[in-house]
Amino acid sequence: MTSPQPKPGILDIEAYVGGVSKLPGIERVIKLSSNEGALGPSPRAVEAYRAVGPDMHRYPDGHATHLRDLLAERWGLEADRIVCGNGSDDVLQLLARAYCGQGDEVLYSEHGFLVYPIAAKSCGATPVTAPETDLTASVDALLARVTERTRIVFIANPNNPTGTYLPADEMRRLHAGLPKDVLLVIDAAYAEFVDANDYEDGSALVKAHDNVVMTRTFSKIFGMGGLRLGWAYCPPAIADVLNRIRGPFNVAAPALAAGEAALADRDFFDLARRHNIYWRGWLAEELTRLGLDVTPSATNFLLVKFADARAADAFLRSRGIIVRAVASYGLPHHLRITIGREDEVRAVAEALAEFLGA
Ligand SMILES: *Cc1c(COP(=O)(O)O)cnc(C)c1O
Repeated sequence: MTSPQPKPGILDIEAYVGGVSKLPGIERVIKLSSNEGALGPSPRAVEAYRAVGPDMHRYPDGHATHLRDLLAERWGLEADRIVCGNGSDDVLQLLARAYCGQGDEVLYSEHGFLVYPIAAKSCGATPVTAPETDLTASVDALLARVTERTRIVFIANPNNPTGTYLPADEMRRLHAGLPKDVLLVIDAAYAEFVDANDYEDGSALVKAHDNVVMTRTFSKIFGMGGLRLGWAYCPPAIADVLNRIRGPFNVAAPALAAGEAALADRDFFDLARRHNIYWRGWLAEELTRLGLDVTPSATNFLLVKFADARAADAFLRSRGIIVRAVASYGLPHHLRITIGREDEVRAVAEALAEFLGA
């Protein structure tokens, strides 16, 4: 070897590609490619963000104490079991780094979030996928792929990019079928958008067991993806591990300030939730009427099947609308469309009606 070589697995990683945000020659695009929250951030979060600017020479509170207290109060959790991160991506990577390495397996479902194989491979572990049924994670298929090498099972509930979810009893069955030394990571990035009665975010499972972690984010319903703020609710021993290995100041001061203000703005949160439920239903109905196959969604996006997804994507782009092609998730015939503002949702429905000649 004549030059430094990365650890095994790292050069097998296909770097994550985010949603496109610009189209050449089009000034005002409609960006529905990254599930960013239709209404943007709470004005109170923006104000809090601005207010900390002059103090940017000060290090942030490395323990995120106030934010963790607010999160605990809001969701009925214990603050000392919450660990904050530079986006929930940070926390997912830390979990992989702490609990798996070379020779280990990391299990997730067929159309699961692409950060999971990246996290696994960057630790030298082998990603293993389990097939889905009707674009929904299958508990039986996941359990059938658990081996003595399995260290972590990642499941996004609801899942991106499918938008589907597993009800609470299925999540309990998944947990019950895992060996006690396997870590179940429930990625609940879209929990706030779910309005199904049989859904739970996973915190009850964390409370009851030593091998379950739930992750959450400010990137979706709170509309703060650009600031990078996420968190994990953990058993005490796992919170302790994450606190040992995380960056000492892994959450920036503006993210802490804006996150605290966003949590306090209940009216904005309720508005964002109602907006999403209404326009998600409206768009699903419109697209179904056009003859498209729309996967039932518990999130702030719709997964839609096309005879020719690439042609549909190109047509939408010609109208200045950017959605997400999901071929890299094993879904070459689908597009993922984020629920945007009313004008944006109407524009995508109109453009697709034109594309289909309806
Ligand atoms: C968007 C998303 C996240 C959030 O990632 P951040 O790093 O918090 O922005 C996590 N998991 C899934 C499945 C997502 O779609």
